[in-house]
Amino acid sequence: MLNIVKLEQLLKKKKIELLDRVKKLEKDKTRRDGPLDPDFEEQATMLENSEVVDQLDALERKELLQIDAALKRIKDKEYGLCQMCQAQISEKRLLALPYATTCVNCVGP
Ligand SMILES: [Zn+2]
Repeated sequence: MLNIVKLEQLLKKKKIELLDRVKKLEKDKTRRDGPLDPDFEEQATMLENSEVVDQLDALERKELLQIDAALKRIKDKEYGLCQMCQAQISEKRLLALPYATTCVNCVGP
């Protein structure tokens, strides 16, 4: 039997951490959209950094969606089942990746 309570706590904790990070990144973005720095070199560095921020943002948003989907599966009592073969995903795998939707055997190429 899976320790759903523990895994749900793990997911919720991860979600809070991510929301916190996304919020911080959004703050950085707002700052970036402000008046441009007259110093060109400074400006170039800022733009470079903002690309990294955008990437992180997308990745973290994707992770958030996966966490939300996992929390929904807990509610629907479908959590921990492989979506490919319906087998029980091992707790070890879920502890490492609490929003996994496939078992180790079905992890895509
Ligand atoms: Zn499977």
